Amino acid sequence: MAWLLLAASLVLPLAACEWDPAAGPDVPLPTVLAVPTEAATATAPAPPSPSPAIPTFRPTVVATSTATSTATHTVTVTPSATPEPTPTPRPTAVFSAERAMEHVMALAHEIGPRVAGEEGAELAAEYIADQFDSYGYEVHQQLFEYTKFVDHGSKVELLPGGASLDGIPMEYSPAGEVEGRLIRAGIGRPEDIPDGGFEGGIALIRRGGGIRFRDKALAAAEAGAGAVMIYNDRPGPLRGSLGELVPVPVLGLDGRTGQHLVEQASRGPVLVRVTVGAEIVQRVTTNVIAERPGLGARMLLIGAHYDSVKKSPGGNDNATGTAVLLELARVLSTYVLPEDLTIYFVAFGAEEDGLHGSRHFVERLDAQQRQSFVAMLNYDMLGVGDVLGVGGSTELTDLAIWLAQQQGWTAQPLGVEIEHRSDHAPFAAAGIRALVFHAPNDTHYHKETDTPDRIQAGHLARFARLGLAVIQQLVAE
Ligand SMILES: [Zn+2]
Repeated sequence: MAWLLLAASLVLPLAACEWDPAAGPDVPLPTVLAVPTEAATATAPAPPSPSPAIPTFRPTVVATSTATSTATHTVTVTPSATPEPTPTPRPTAVFSAERAMEHVMALAHEIGPRVAGEEGAELAAEYIADQFDSYGYEVHQQLFEYTKFVDHGSKVELLPGGASLDGIPMEYSPAGEVEGRLIRAGIGRPEDIPDGGFEGGIALIRRGGGIRFRDKALAAAEAGAGAVMIYNDRPGPLRGSLGELVPVPVLGLDGRTGQHLVEQASRGPVLVRVTVGAEIVQRVTTNVIAERPGLGARMLLIGAHYDSVKKSPGGNDNATGTAVLLELARVLSTYVLPEDLTIYFVAFGAEEDGLHGSRHFVERLDAQQRQSFVAMLNYDMLGVGDVLGVGGSTELTDLAIWLAQQQGWTAQPLGVEIEHRSDHAPFAAAGIRALVFHAPNDTHYHKETDTPDRIQAGHLARFARLGLAVIQQLVAE
């Protein structure tokens, strides 16, 4: 049932987001800027004009769920002593680590693995949408489709009847079973291709030389190879992507396997059978978007991916980030924020398959919208290990480290290894300031053992509190 609802809202979100900020509130607002109905009814009766749902900014003390005193903040904020112009002012909510852990349990324990395009992810999207809805937000489903590469099992056999060796198909390799003579082709440069071509044989090429896997594969296929094996230039398995479909099966080999085959081929003809059990499938999944509409041009986005890898319950990765996202949405729904500011809370789909959700979101922003972003904050893997890190744009990383210090703890700067590995990356690439919160040391990452019992709720509270401090700083700019 949820899926039908999702399909119905396919046309909704940001493509429709072409408003004229100068036009003022009398112009009918497009869907993404519409005032949430719950918020509108909650502010009855007879709210003062012109903007009942979005009153003026009231600085608020950053909520904390730990015992750390707010006195450690040097971001000077004053709780408002004067009553709001709204008839029914609400008390400001406080981040609750207990509530966050309830979300973690719901996602990682009750639902379990949340592979994009499969039932777990659908249930999770439904759960997240329900939570956003209960906080009074306008909720959108942003459906998208992408191509996924699935390996059902691949190998190399030495013929006749010889040993079976492991190989990992390169992403976008077609499936197939090819038998032929092994032909060495160096690192796949034009001068490494044998004069008579491969004549249906199987090309064995070493990684390296600054030549892309795709170019090595295409050159060999063009010269008549029936399949291509690319072996690592060091010990260890080789995983890689061809970017898009190529004409012949391509397998990545461990460096040792490759060396072994090279030695055999140097002693005489070697016959092999290459089997690639790959499949390219179309997947449909969704970003779940809660919006707090503003009247002006400034936009802020807080995001976290809710999908997991196959078989993993995705407790730390990334029920923790999703839980903090939900809690921040709840807490911020009670804040009074600047009138011009629109906040998006986005639970991204299909991160694990290649940041598809965040890419899709960014692709649908026009140039003006991209420039309107104050920042994008991304929460990914928060609850395990003793290092709590921040990364992304240097400016925001420095700010976050400083604010953590003010809160009495140390946030470590994350290096370039996080740069392309989570949903902040497409935003950064589009010129949007982005910050990622991430605890890097989790040995159960992507395993069946990524279960909620290993998560430290205090980490979630710290990252959430830091995010709130960053937001407060940014929106005051
Ligand atoms: Zn993740």
